[in-house]
Amino acid sequence: LEEQVRHAQKMEAVGQLAAGIAHEFNNLLTVVAGYAGLLERRLSPTSIERSSPALLHRYALDILTAVSRAATLTGQLLTFGRKQQQQLAPLNINELVTSSVRILRPLLEPHIAIVTDLSPDLGIVVADQQQLEQVLTNLAVNARDAMPHGGTLTLRTLNVWHESRPESSTPALFRSRQASDETIRMNPYVLLEVADTGLGMTEEVRQRIFEPFFTTKPVGKGTGLGLSVVEGIIAQNKGFITVTSEVGKGTAFQIFLPRGELL
Ligand code: ADP
Repeated sequence: LEEQVRHAQKMEAVGQLAAGIAHEFNNLLTVVAGYAGLLERRLSPTSIERSSPALLHRYALDILTAVSRAATLTGQLLTFGRKQQQQLAPLNINELVTSSVRILRPLLEPHIAIVTDLSPDLGIVVADQQQLEQVLTNLAVNARDAMPHGGTLTLRTLNVWHESRPESSTPALFRSRQASDETIRMNPYVLLEVADTGLGMTEEVRQRIFEPFFTTKPVGKGTGLGLSVVEGIIAQNKGFITVTSEVGKGTAFQIFLPRGELL
């Protein structure tokens, strides 16, 4: 029965995703069709309407923006669906954080500080390095967007024993993770926390952040897929993710990855 429930939930998630994609693509196609139609009419030899080159240029730009957004969307969907090519290897998360900071630095504005607080005796995890880099990138981009006036991004690692189901987790989180409740309770984890000192979010927003296409960002800025991708990747690596947030104070994501034997 549990298997059937899981399958049904998966199908529901896939259906939701497909509906979201269709909706999103339709919106973008409408934009492209609209401006292409305008260009066609204004540039037609028989057209009596005259348009300034600046206006025509504007239409072309709007088409390019919509197309680029569609490309971002398909790019993220590819990540979303990329399950088979997972490359598992023993990883030291401290090293991953240190190397990722170099990649993240140019992504963040100069007025955002990056602080690392790495546990010296961190256990190893078996995971896909590229996937985890993607997770850090997505979380860092969100942190940046939440700190328009600057702030601090803190990356922290710690060995933990996870004793109970975290209170702050979302239903979606538990729907997609692989481990049973028993595994969660008994097993050692490496905790990787990504915290910002940004705007934070309300309880209503917090409950929806892992939904595909849920975004509070302006059109053209957010796809609402960043955290869905994060959640999917963490589940594929047999971990789970929780979040704590306070409006005006900041947000922290806690990523729990199953710890291998201590070396
Ligand atoms: P997107 O970034 O494209 O909106 P995400 O799935 O990455 O999509 O995030 C969904 C929403 O979660 C964001 O629009 C934002 O409202 C909220 N969110 C995510 N990360 C943070 C954060 N660090 N601080 C505040 N809000 C956040």
